[in-house]
Amino acid sequence: MVLENLSSSLKNSLKKIARAMFVDEKLIDELIKDLQRSLLHADVNVSLVFNLTKDIKERALKEKPPAGITQKEYLVRIVYEELVKFLGEEKQEIKIGKTKPFKIMFVGLFGSGKTTTIGKVAKYYSKRGFKVASLALDVHRPAAVDQLEQISKTADIKCFSEKKEKKPVKIYKKFEKEYSKYDILLIDTAGRDALSKDLIKELNDLNKTIKPNENLLVISADIGQAAQKQAEEFHKACSVTGVIVTKMDGTAKAGGSLTACSATKAKIKFIGVGEKMDDLEEFNPKGFVSRLLGMGDLEALLQKTQEVISKEQAEDLGKRMLKGEFNFIDLYEQMSAMSKMGPLSKIMDLIPGFSGIKEKLPADMIKNQEEKLKKWKYIMQSCTKEELEDPEILDNSRIERIAKGSGCTTGEVRELLKQYKQSKKMMKLMKGKTGASEKDMQKMMKQFKGKLKF
Ligand code: GDP
Ligand code: MG
Repeated sequence: MVLENLSSSLKNSLKKIARAMFVDEKLIDELIKDLQRSLLHADVNVSLVFNLTKDIKERALKEKPPAGITQKEYLVRIVYEELVKFLGEEKQEIKIGKTKPFKIMFVGLFGSGKTTTIGKVAKYYSKRGFKVASLALDVHRPAAVDQLEQISKTADIKCFSEKKEKKPVKIYKKFEKEYSKYDILLIDTAGRDALSKDLIKELNDLNKTIKPNENLLVISADIGQAAQKQAEEFHKACSVTGVIVTKMDGTAKAGGSLTACSATKAKIKFIGVGEKMDDLEEFNPKGFVSRLLGMGDLEALLQKTQEVISKEQAEDLGKRMLKGEFNFIDLYEQMSAMSKMGPLSKIMDLIPGFSGIKEKLPADMIKNQEEKLKKWKYIMQSCTKEELEDPEILDNSRIERIAKGSGCTTGEVRELLKQYKQSKKMMKLMKGKTGASEKDMQKMMKQFKGKLKF
């Protein structure tokens, strides 16, 4: 696909979100750095990158997810929405009018892909039922007319050309009566190495005579950020109505040219993604960004709950529990780790010092715990970061909001809060007992068995 490298690095960043336990400032900062790195690699302009990531960070820190959406999903959504905005938001469709023919003129420098793109656009509209013709007005290159004739033949459309005439305006006029037989007329023009006075004059003369409905600037993606200057200059000199960025396939600079064009507010209508006649795509920022981010895969990933936790992670968790470093976030981590690992009994086997305790716990305590874990997970995902860090602030109105967001009852939210308070108490008592032996742990667990209501 287009922008392969950018796509895979963006996908990796989002996978990190999907795999994270919860959204906090550290995760957001890491995401921002990842995004910056990926976009800069794709040749996107530095100040554009910083503006974009600043907006993402601000929203990620400030906004709360609406009910029914987890913070992780919401973070991914923010990235998606901001990237879409970055690329121009709406699809800039060309609306083919009723008057025949609808005239589309293609302008741009040498080798940018005008002639090839005419063949692609011809095919695109022919497929949609329009009767299309092309007009060869590139009089500067001897082989240009042959090339358009050849391409038109491949696309199975009529090509108007006059090799003997050297004045493009005259060629246009020569066939003027015939154009109305066609729905769409695609006009090929001559390029130059640069936007010279000569070229500006030629294009302005054509504009005056032809009065095209669309005047499309064809830009090659491999010029990267220079696309911005080119788009601006062409726009000033011969009022283009839209842009087609070609050769999006073979260049790492495609991100630069695409975003540079968007920055000029030039409306990108199509992108060229290969040399073949079918390698043309309507430019739709929403679809483009979803593909870039692999939204389909990502949704599946976000929903995936059955992830495997490593033995090291479990051991680390056990050590922290023994150290008594415990807050609401830790409880969440423990719980998500547990639900990922499956049966609580399995977890006990993995945490050093806990294996011996397992047999001593009542069987239904383990079973009930597993069911509750699921609900508690939803509840915690509806909590703000502030609430996760300091559950003491959970008043009635917060509890009600969380219950609504998680689809649980307020009673269930309160029960979790109680569980937290009990666990915290237990952890406090454990504090200082770093390196507690299995025997100590068993003793402690016995002590708390009566108090702990799972
Ligand atoms: P013009 O001088 O603007 O008319 O450019 P051409 O249409 O002759 O294209 C110049 C070269 O770019 C040709 O070799 C095309 O095959 C190639 N080209 C055009 N569009 C694309 C594209 O989207 N992808 C790739 N890979 N090559 C393209
Ligand atoms: Mg050409």
